[in-house]
Amino acid sequence: MKIDIIGAGPAGNYTAYLLAKKGHSVSVYEKNPVVGPPVQCTGILSDYFLTIFEPKKDFVLNTVERTKIFSPNGKFVNAGIKKNYVVCRKKFDSYLAKMAESAGAEYHLSHSFNSFRKNGKKIISEISCRGKAIESEADVLIGADGPLSKVAKAAGLFEGREFVIGTQIEAKMKNNNIVEFYPYIGCYAWIVPVDPETVRIGVASYKNSMALFKKFAMKKIGKDYNKRTIENQSGVIPVFNPKVRAQKDNVYILGDAATFVKATSGGGINQSLKAAIILAECVDKELDYDKEWRKQMFLNLYVHLLAHRMHQRFTATDWNDLIGTFSSSKMKKILHDESRDRIVSMIIKIIAARPSLMKYAKYFPFRELKKLI
Ligand SMILES: Cc1cc2nc3c(=O)[nH]c(=O)nc-3n(C[C@H](O)[C@H](O)[C@H](O)COP(=O)(O)OP(=O)(O)OC[C@H]3O[C@@H](n4cnc5c(N)ncnc54)[C@H](O)[C@@H]3O)c2cc1C
Repeated sequence: MKIDIIGAGPAGNYTAYLLAKKGHSVSVYEKNPVVGPPVQCTGILSDYFLTIFEPKKDFVLNTVERTKIFSPNGKFVNAGIKKNYVVCRKKFDSYLAKMAESAGAEYHLSHSFNSFRKNGKKIISEISCRGKAIESEADVLIGADGPLSKVAKAAGLFEGREFVIGTQIEAKMKNNNIVEFYPYIGCYAWIVPVDPETVRIGVASYKNSMALFKKFAMKKIGKDYNKRTIENQSGVIPVFNPKVRAQKDNVYILGDAATFVKATSGGGINQSLKAAIILAECVDKELDYDKEWRKQMFLNLYVHLLAHRMHQRFTATDWNDLIGTFSSSKMKKILHDESRDRIVSMIIKIIAARPSLMKYAKYFPFRELKKLI
């Protein structure tokens, strides 16, 4: 099959690799002149990454095995976690693209997808390259073109989208190699160590993301945080839409283009890679992709969304109480043993250990359930 993939991020590159390896004729169109930059990502991956991909020195900058989760009263829980990986997105994305190229995929950089039309069963993509209009004909079109996906828009798959703004810098800041997480600032705020002298620090929020970020960065780094900034890495993060359709005839979307992101943390790389595996199998074997990704990914993404909606209703006292309960060794063990990429199992164990936490069921977002019906 001739397959056109739009976007050379993790979702597009890994799908290109898997489909080229299966013998398909794959072309990847990327609007930027280089695969990787601009980086709009923290690049932290839970241990779930290991189930999908082999971490390599080529792109892993750091590993972290401890986190501090802060509450509004300044107290925090300090817990061990399974090894998390901090990747360089420039290197990771280009590593994946090289894998895809070695498997036979062709890359077309500085090629920006605009729209598509149908010609019988074929799909004609309309693309511009340095001011010139180009067309590409394929049997299958895959949109891996990020949160504002033009492929999703052109296919009528973009409805019901919500976004948070992630404001982040990479900056000079001494640290002890601990991930700091602040679930009560905006939607969430974070400090992720890259090396002993460097961190990625950011805030994600529906509104006032920049103002919240400035306050946070000033407090954590100091008034001169601008001087210490190495790179601005801000970007748009889609909120998982449980009603999203990811296939229309022979047009498919995945990754951020399909809102496959954990709503409690903004993490989407593991989900992009997982979806790539599912999609490549479905395209190759002509299986029902919408059915398959729902079977394998929906529950985890949906429970993250429900938890996120509940968090939005938490008061400062709720956060202080909840995070306070994690200081017991039993709860710390759960934080260590469970992965945020398997949130259902984590929540079941937390509730079993502390049934009193059921009091937060009062915040359960029944409106989200109704939306599904
Ligand atoms: C501030 C911030 C921090 C984050 N931190 C983390 C984190 O720590 N861990 C994690 O797992 N996730 C994180 N994420 C989310 C993560 O970055 C995304 O989930 C991930 O990049 C999704 O991969 P993707 O391939 O679907 O999309 P993208 O990485 O966005 O790739 C899309 C590609 O498509 C290209 N493109 C777009 N439009 C067109 C077009 N019209 N024509 C051709 N090419 C096009 C783009 O240039 C880009 O190369 C973060 C996001 C933000 C904004």
